[in-house]
Amino acid sequence: MPEIQLHNTLSGKVEPFVPQKPGEVRMYSCGPTVYDYAHIGNYRTFVFQDILRRFLKLRGFQLKHVINLTDVDDRIIANAAAAGRNIREYTEQFAQAFFDDCKTLSIEAPEHWIRATDHIDDMVQLIQRLQANTYTYASEGSIYYRISKFTNYGKLSKIDLTGIQAGARVDNDRYEKESARDFALWKAPKPGEHFWETAIGPGRPGWHIECSAMAMKYLGETLDIHTGGIDLAFPHHENEIAQSEAATGKPFARYWLHAEHLLVDGEKMSKSLGNFFTLRDLFAKGHKPSALRFALASVPYRKQLNFTFDGLTQATNSVERLRNFADRLKHRNFPAGRLGGMAARIAKAAEEFDAGLSDDLNTARALAAVFDLVREANIAMDKSEFRQGDVAATLQFLNTFDKVFAMLEDHDAAKLQALGYGSAEAGLSDAEIEKLIADRTAAKKRRDFAAADRIRKELSDRGIILEDAKDGSVRWKRK
Ligand code: AMP
Ligand code: ZN
Repeated sequence: MPEIQLHNTLSGKVEPFVPQKPGEVRMYSCGPTVYDYAHIGNYRTFVFQDILRRFLKLRGFQLKHVINLTDVDDRIIANAAAAGRNIREYTEQFAQAFFDDCKTLSIEAPEHWIRATDHIDDMVQLIQRLQANTYTYASEGSIYYRISKFTNYGKLSKIDLTGIQAGARVDNDRYEKESARDFALWKAPKPGEHFWETAIGPGRPGWHIECSAMAMKYLGETLDIHTGGIDLAFPHHENEIAQSEAATGKPFARYWLHAEHLLVDGEKMSKSLGNFFTLRDLFAKGHKPSALRFALASVPYRKQLNFTFDGLTQATNSVERLRNFADRLKHRNFPAGRLGGMAARIAKAAEEFDAGLSDDLNTARALAAVFDLVREANIAMDKSEFRQGDVAATLQFLNTFDKVFAMLEDHDAAKLQALGYGSAEAGLSDAEIEKLIADRTAAKKRRDFAAADRIRKELSDRGIILEDAKDGSVRWKRK
């Protein structure tokens, strides 16, 4: 098997992936800030992380993977205070929605889901280590990190700090690139807002210290892989490195992987721009989780992904093609024996699938390997050349594909229903209905009755009744 190659933001290069301990991967992924519902841009990054962990598992690595929920943050504290609720009460709805979304999108649970509010002591202890190593100074009840003392500051994002005054302080965790300055490790309480009474004084942690403290608690002082969206490289991850390495004197993370953004009309999808969709928005329009997962996963993670509804419809068709193929394999009876060259063809597809993912998680290349085989096998089936003896190996390959891509089934129907997916109000547009009917007619034409029946059932589940007229045309109406 080829060596796994990954792009490391730290070196700026694609490198062979070699974990510290053979067979084990310690990985930390920055999770959502639970002050609102996550949007599908966030899920692009979370699906990328999921594909990475699933591929590493497929390759036999044992995963120690941590995803945190950022449930302390200036916006959360301010919103909770405004709503007259404590932090847990305020964030719970968004945390639950996030877990539901992950299940719906087949994002596997990591070995540890953790929350910042459960780790305040660990953060305080890390700040105390930084105080002992004289990387901090206090001002008006807050504690700041002195960036000028950490000589390697900027090594991840390659930010140039020349011209930026040392010792200028920012309380805001998310600042623009131009204003890199000392950042707050611990923030003095604000009137009317939540704070913790601790050994370093009353207050609340800064965002960056949360991830350093939690990552090292669960994974040790040097991680194998740290992931996040590209917007986190600076300042968040740069500050995580500065804090962790100043405390331990050891490298904090060996491989840094960053997912590029999901864009809408050329702009980053973000809560602050207001140009975002949640999963609920898409389900309400009748789109399936598997189609979204396909759309998010099909573009390699280091390329920007432009979100469009056309793209989502294409993704739906691609998933459908794979499912029809799987159905065909499972439910048809092919003549006994083997088709000459087919076994080698399947083995080559499996090899190319693995080579694609080993190539810095090139999902497009891996998917091409799958679809090429599907096309060729379908042709062989249409020509009645495909043989029963090749079914098991083909299904096994599809199974390997699905261990990583996880889109051959949309599971958890009850939950989807509760989220508004699949209900009659979900409202398929006329064009979407016509499209499904055309797909069904095409399936009947190629005598793929299982697929045709599935489309009829899907339409019926979504409140559409079909009537086949004698002349071969199809009429439909809403229930
Ligand atoms: P947040 O909840 O803002 O902390 O973001 C959670 C994750 O989503 C982080 O890894 C972000 O980098 C990532 N993220 C935010 N916006 C986008 C986007 N438009 N495309 C891809 N990832 C994003
Ligand atoms: Zn983080």
